[in-house]
Amino acid sequence: MTVTEDLSPLIPTPRDADRPTVRPGFRTAAVHAGQAPDPLTGAVIPPIYQTSTFTQPTVETLRGGYEYSRGGNPTRTGLEVQLAALEGGAHGFAFASGIAAEDALLRATLRPGDRVVSVGETYGGTHRLLSQLYSRWDVRTTFVAPDDAAARDEALADPATKLVWLESPTNPLLTVVDIDEWSRAAHAHGALLVVDNTFASPALQTPLALGADAVVHSTTKYIGGHSDVLGGALVIDDAVWEDQPLAELIRFQQFAGGAVAGPQDAFLTTRGLKTLGVRIRQHCENAQAIAEWLTGQDDVARVFYPGLPEHPTHELARRQMSGFGGIVTFQLAGGEQAARTVAESTEVFGLSVSLGGVESLISHPATMTHGSTQGTPQAPPRDVVRLSAGIEDAEDLIEDLDRALRRLR
Ligand SMILES: *Cc1c(COP(=O)(O)O)cnc(C)c1O
Repeated sequence: MTVTEDLSPLIPTPRDADRPTVRPGFRTAAVHAGQAPDPLTGAVIPPIYQTSTFTQPTVETLRGGYEYSRGGNPTRTGLEVQLAALEGGAHGFAFASGIAAEDALLRATLRPGDRVVSVGETYGGTHRLLSQLYSRWDVRTTFVAPDDAAARDEALADPATKLVWLESPTNPLLTVVDIDEWSRAAHAHGALLVVDNTFASPALQTPLALGADAVVHSTTKYIGGHSDVLGGALVIDDAVWEDQPLAELIRFQQFAGGAVAGPQDAFLTTRGLKTLGVRIRQHCENAQAIAEWLTGQDDVARVFYPGLPEHPTHELARRQMSGFGGIVTFQLAGGEQAARTVAESTEVFGLSVSLGGVESLISHPATMTHGSTQGTPQAPPRDVVRLSAGIEDAEDLIEDLDRALRRLR
């Protein structure tokens, strides 16, 4: 039997990622959770443990629980503690990408023959994972519109349905979905509710508190926040799945599947996460200003932003979120060609997939992020453009969009 020498509080140990955290204010937790100064030197920033393996005092003893970095690494543990604290969960897990986190969760909970119900408007890569990869392992997904409770409940009535996948706000049309209502529906049929919280970020919405069993993140987006690192995360509470603690099932999958975050990536993600609370305010403020300005433009047929009173799920957004987020989608009166022209004409907004960084980005979802949904009912409209508002000056962003819209005339 392997025993563990207790090194805490010297360094975060793998067990620390499992301790329910007392939740101080969001920005305090963002800066301090899992980030105690180095006890050896007092370094304010804990060292980056750039190591693959750890020496042991004896064949049966581990220092602080660390053996090999796929199983655990203090830099990753620090991030996992930080993530759990910010989502208000008991356990955090960091992965090499958002898709790797999704894959680990699906493999930890499902087996061939099981069924999934997913909200129809998801991240294109999630749609691809479920419809093109898991389908080959006989895990089939029914996609339903965010407001189609009847279709959802019909799929849930199939006893093979084990998991419900939700994204809110949805991508790219930013429909806010009632997490509390979906969690009740999932739980009434014994299914797990998973919420991809990438768009809102834990600064604006904490799905576990609304009944979700698991939260997924692409930390590549708002959490990392600087477009310089790829990563993913899972945060859960003390859920039990098929008589086993869900945390154990995920930990096993993380170790055995191996798609872990490396120490440098974990460090960059932690560094980004510390400033999420202040960044998100500017993202929201800029997005609101842009959405209001776009609403008055002749070339724009419709603006999708939950912060606009006319948005169909504005009231729900007010209840469920503490801000409306940094993504704005809009439909061009001139159709697909106009959407492409605008996407290719900005100078401050970079034409790029991804979102949530300090720099503003613009994309054409139908051909870019959601290319894999082409020809399916889940394909986004071809005449919309999606913006990720960065933290630059709102006037500069609006001027840039104004210049791009004028290219249409
Ligand atoms: C980007 C994204 C993902 C996938 O994450 P990666 O880090 O790119 O693997 C999943 N969900 C949403 C909502 C995303 O925006």
